[in-house]
Amino acid sequence: MNWTHFGEKLTSRSGILELMDDLGKAMQSPGEKYMLGGGNPGVIPEMDQLWRRRMEEIMANGDEFERGLGNYDTPQGKERFLRAMANLLNREFNWKLGPENIGITNGSQTAFFILFNLLSGSMRPERGQTEGLTHGFGPSQEVVKKILLPFTPEYIGYADQGIGQDHFVSQRPVISYEGDHGFKYMVDFSRLDIPSDIGAICVSRPTNPTGNVLTDEEMSNLDQLAQGKDIPLLVDNAYGTPFPHMIYVPATPLWNDNIILGMSLSKIGLPSARTGIIIGNPKVIEAVTAVNAITSLSNGTIGQMILTPLVESGEILKVSKEIIQPFYQQRSNRAQEAMAHHLRGLPWRVHKSEGALFLWVWFDDPRIDTHHLYQRLKEQNVIIVPGKYFFFGLDNHTRQPDTWVHRNQCFRMNFAGDPTMVDRGLEIIGQEVRRMLSGT
Ligand code: PLP
Repeated sequence: MNWTHFGEKLTSRSGILELMDDLGKAMQSPGEKYMLGGGNPGVIPEMDQLWRRRMEEIMANGDEFERGLGNYDTPQGKERFLRAMANLLNREFNWKLGPENIGITNGSQTAFFILFNLLSGSMRPERGQTEGLTHGFGPSQEVVKKILLPFTPEYIGYADQGIGQDHFVSQRPVISYEGDHGFKYMVDFSRLDIPSDIGAICVSRPTNPTGNVLTDEEMSNLDQLAQGKDIPLLVDNAYGTPFPHMIYVPATPLWNDNIILGMSLSKIGLPSARTGIIIGNPKVIEAVTAVNAITSLSNGTIGQMILTPLVESGEILKVSKEIIQPFYQQRSNRAQEAMAHHLRGLPWRVHKSEGALFLWVWFDDPRIDTHHLYQRLKEQNVIIVPGKYFFFGLDNHTRQPDTWVHRNQCFRMNFAGDPTMVDRGLEIIGQEVRRMLSGT
């Protein structure tokens, strides 16, 4: 079969496809499994009870169930949910949002797919802009815009979302070392240049894969830079506040007319409801709504139905702060203790766990290549994600193959699963790394 460029791009062997394939196969294989790979939220009994309660309320409430599932929604989302979200964010953060600032997508993965392709790729130059022209003048003239990731590693799920070529440029972070086994990445503002072919800046905060939370100062700098260049700042808040609130350090959320904030119902425990939420200026929301109508007609509504009363009453804030946040913080601490135990004597470091549900581990030794480690661990039903996939865009920025060995020395692990499983997974990782270091 001959595919178009779009087809070739999306059917090639992407990191995310390999990851999802491996997760699926590992799930089906017999024997004990140590699933430290994907982004699944943990099982929280109180949250399961809450979802069950909400479903029972929907079933008991006249024909809410039938009407909810039996009609196409508007492509922007359910009016009552949009209003509830706007009010919640206004109450919490003193923003000035209305329903026209909120748009729903079928998962925030889809939200970013839409946004990246609206803001990067080939486009007509703005009036007076000729720099970066690729096709001369006349009807075929165009500029090719890119998304700037101000630091990598960044979320693997973005890497192949642009339907053209090389949608992302990124740069290395500054590393600050903390104690014998800690480190933290920071944006290297001294090297951050924003050429005219940048269509938007994007960060995940908290960051997948590292668990980093960009500081308020870093966010304010990025906001200023974006406004100065008149390009939007995309902030992926899938793990952030006010829900799921997987955030373990103080951090102020930021929104203004130039910021497009992505949220999700996945990490509060509803990944299969496929509900993403975009908060942006009305022009952005109109554009996303138009793409929704063409690609999906409308969005799934079950997530919005389940959540609406919880958003209206503020219960979602309470459970996020009192149940979800402590659950993940404890799991993170426990996994770090297990790591210190099973990796003792090895050259390991872990990124400061400031948010999200991952630990980002770095073996600072030339003999450890985490893609190799990943393959060896897969044989033992331990699934991690090798680091190299999270460093996309570096080569595009320098126009040279990036030679940073660090990208092959890190891996991501999900700590949300059962602590005994995580502990045993880390034990096997420790054993395997020891074998690799001894050349066996
Ligand atoms: N953004 C980040 C940073 C993520 O980690 C994920 C999923 O793991 C997504 C977006 C996509 O989430 P969903 O499409 O389930 O809302």
